[in-house]
Amino acid sequence: MRIAVLSDIHGNLDALDAVLGRCREEGIGPTFVTGDIVGYGAEPQEVIDRVAELHGVRMVAGNHDLAAVGRFDLEWFNRVAATALRWTRTVLSPSGRGLLERLDPRSEGSTALLVHGSVVDPAAEYLLDEERAAASFGHERFELCFFGHTHLPVLFVQDAGGRVEGRVPEPDAVVELDGGHRYLVNPGSVGQPRDGDPRASFLIFDTEARRAVWHRVAYPVEEAQRKIRDAGLPDVLAERLAVGR
Ligand code: ZN
Repeated sequence: MRIAVLSDIHGNLDALDAVLGRCREEGIGPTFVTGDIVGYGAEPQEVIDRVAELHGVRMVAGNHDLAAVGRFDLEWFNRVAATALRWTRTVLSPSGRGLLERLDPRSEGSTALLVHGSVVDPAAEYLLDEERAAASFGHERFELCFFGHTHLPVLFVQDAGGRVEGRVPEPDAVVELDGGHRYLVNPGSVGQPRDGDPRASFLIFDTEARRAVWHRVAYPVEEAQRKIRDAGLPDVLAERLAVGR
């Protein structure tokens, strides 16, 4: 079975549709979504609808999703993010709000643990370095965990001796997840990449072969930018999409 892992879509329907188009071409089965479905982008409700209709989807809430329905303090966010979240609250439908109200920032399953931030703090901690990854490995027993929140494609590996190493995967490179090791895996961001590559980032995980492949997909960035400007959202949210920062 091959599973698509998507994170930090952030209301960017143009990026999501490009990714889902690629998943259809590849004949992907279920989808995991590791949070931040909304926030920043101009089509949060449309993105919720699209994600909710995916076959076999398993989702967790990100800090933006929680804040959009009053479950996470807006004070935590910078001014631009908070502005976008206040706007997001005005455009969600009752069913969209209902979905975000039901999601937790953590979901356990047979294939993988899903969190948004980290295992230690599923809603809000940024897993940016090996030290924080080691804390998550130590927090509880899991073999494979998918996470998001940093918008950076990365994989942290813990070997049998407990040593933790971070690696930045190249697009299209095949990464074997060997037995006996433990993994914390970030697919990168669909809707607001921050690694300098503006293309949407996601991952395909083959559960039998234990192989992960990170993919990058170009999408009409100008369309997403135009919608952000038309919605009256801060211009910096449009600008950053072009540079992937
Ligand atoms: Zn995010």
